[in-house]
Amino acid sequence: MDPDMTKAPLPNRRDGVDQDQFLTILSREEALARFEAALFPRPIPSEPRPLADALGHALAQDIVAPIDVPPFDRANVDGFAVRSADLGSASEAAPVRLLLNDEVIACGTAPTRPVLSGTATSIATGGPVPRGADAIVMVEHSQPAGSRAIEIRRAASPGQFVSYAGSDIARGEALLRAGTLVGSREIGMAAACGIAQVQVARRPRVAVISTGDELVQPGLPLRPAAIHDSNGAIIAAAVNENGGEASFLGAIADDEAKLEAAMRGALQTSDMLVLSGGTSKGAGDVSHRIIARLGKPGIIAHGVALKPGKPLCLAVCDGKPVVILPGFPTSAMFTFHDMIVPVLRRMAGLPPRSDAKVTATVPVAIASELGRTEFVMVSLVEGDGGLIAYPSGKGSGAITSFAQADGFLRIEALADRMPAGTAAEVTLFTPHLRVPDLVIVGSHCTGLDLVTAQLSRAGLTVRSIAAGSLGGLAAARRGECDFAPIHLFDENTESYNTPFLGPGLELVPGWRRMQGIVFRPGDARFEGLTVQAAVAAALADPGCIMVNRNPGAGTRILIDRLLGKARPDGYWNQPKSHNAVAAAIAQHRADWGMTIAPVAHAAGLGFIALAEEHYDFAVVTARKQRPAVQAFLASLASEESRAALARAGFRPA
Ligand code: AMP
Ligand code: MG
Repeated sequence: MDPDMTKAPLPNRRDGVDQDQFLTILSREEALARFEAALFPRPIPSEPRPLADALGHALAQDIVAPIDVPPFDRANVDGFAVRSADLGSASEAAPVRLLLNDEVIACGTAPTRPVLSGTATSIATGGPVPRGADAIVMVEHSQPAGSRAIEIRRAASPGQFVSYAGSDIARGEALLRAGTLVGSREIGMAAACGIAQVQVARRPRVAVISTGDELVQPGLPLRPAAIHDSNGAIIAAAVNENGGEASFLGAIADDEAKLEAAMRGALQTSDMLVLSGGTSKGAGDVSHRIIARLGKPGIIAHGVALKPGKPLCLAVCDGKPVVILPGFPTSAMFTFHDMIVPVLRRMAGLPPRSDAKVTATVPVAIASELGRTEFVMVSLVEGDGGLIAYPSGKGSGAITSFAQADGFLRIEALADRMPAGTAAEVTLFTPHLRVPDLVIVGSHCTGLDLVTAQLSRAGLTVRSIAAGSLGGLAAARRGECDFAPIHLFDENTESYNTPFLGPGLELVPGWRRMQGIVFRPGDARFEGLTVQAAVAAALADPGCIMVNRNPGAGTRILIDRLLGKARPDGYWNQPKSHNAVAAAIAQHRADWGMTIAPVAHAAGLGFIALAEEHYDFAVVTARKQRPAVQAFLASLASEESRAALARAGFRPA
């Protein structure tokens, strides 16, 4: 690596491994500047394309109008071509009579007779103005006066209803500039000038490779411990969105020889290579070692003070950019958009992307790591005092934190937090923001999707932010959502939800979810037993492992009551959702736990019913009359939703 790279302080003292791995971490700005300096200036290859195939390409040259548009003086209305001087005295009291010339100028018909003083020629919209005429009188403003004449009762100004040659586009005018992205409007302009072929920048060919032994392509079944390759698809799409032409070469196992062969092959046929995964300088991560052998100058930056995205590796091999994005999908996307898109667009001859930005208030403090520029994805909702930016609670491993966000905000490297109440600038992922009609923050349930389906069909947009029951209640109290789905058990009153409401919120009953013991079907320790007997059997078998729930969950209270003082193996494994419990048992990481019936059945597990959990809605009273809330309540009460809930294993309240 370049010996004079700035040795930034290493703020993350908790993570000793990371410190060894990224000795030289560049600031985001420095890394991007070095990357661009190694790549530009460079010629942008261009190619001629038929107009119809130019859509989505950047123009490589200015387009200069070769002709006037319209090419002749043209009538703008249906009527009569006249000499305006003939009508100078025309009025209601003194109509002027004009003799009609013996021709009708339709569209596409060249006139043959001049308009002499005292005459008029019938002309259609789009027809060329004949010699001698200088104005058009609308047919509505004329009256027939015998078979070969008309009467006109108002004066006409010279040029009235005439589009002059070149008034739309003048010959020699620079119509479109190099770098313009060709869309339907640009195609229309070129077509109007008779241009059938344009010179466009050739889209950079970008090879995309995923790396990792654990990756399986979408469409193929997952083997144990495998995950679907999401980076490959999302990066290829983002390449195409930003002027490149992606070719996805699949996922390659973490095998140095195989990966090197794939990378060399890719570079032969592409202008750029984007890998994801394997960027840490650990033993299994080989891509950066291969890059060092692929061409000069090699690695430009490995380790950037960005969050998410620190392990980003930027290289240039014999003039071609080669980048390794971090494996975590969210990190991969951020670094791609922030650091790679500017370079890709420049190579594609496109101007820098102009992102739409809005200002929104941050409802909760957001912690940030000192020394790294941090990007936080946010969902936007309409609050009482303007937009509110909800930080996505999920980490950089979560694909939904990218897909469900509206945009992101940025916390500068020198700040260790963004305080609650900050008015932050949010960069939008899409050019236009559509604030959702209904905002739900709280505990998610698949039953909720059954109820909101009716709203979606009616054209209402619904945003559901999973923040847990307590997070939802806090948001509802701050007026940041329409309602919070909650399932909170109060031990003192032995009741659900109502004790937690407080002022400004009211409870709308949702549905009941049966909680019970889950186990793999056929497990003789549990099959056919009561809940108490099943727990006794589990406790009697020292080889039996449980999976618990997080403290505070209503289900956890039930589990603790069943266990009493017992702390069996697995007790400290405390996932936060019903789904995670079912997955642990289905995958043999645990043998029993407690979840809800629909989740157990969906995972193909055995189930022993114990007690119903109440899944209700804490509705913000001040927002209850909003049309989308009323639509939700109507859907909740409808026979259709109740039947769908019952089919899915819920009991509507
Ligand atoms: P790595 O950088 O290879 O250590 O990967 C970091 C994390 O990202 C691991 O959990 C990987 O399984 C995950 N990951 C890597 N590549 C992909 C991919 N193409 N799609 C989804 N997840 C990935
Ligand atoms: Mg990997």
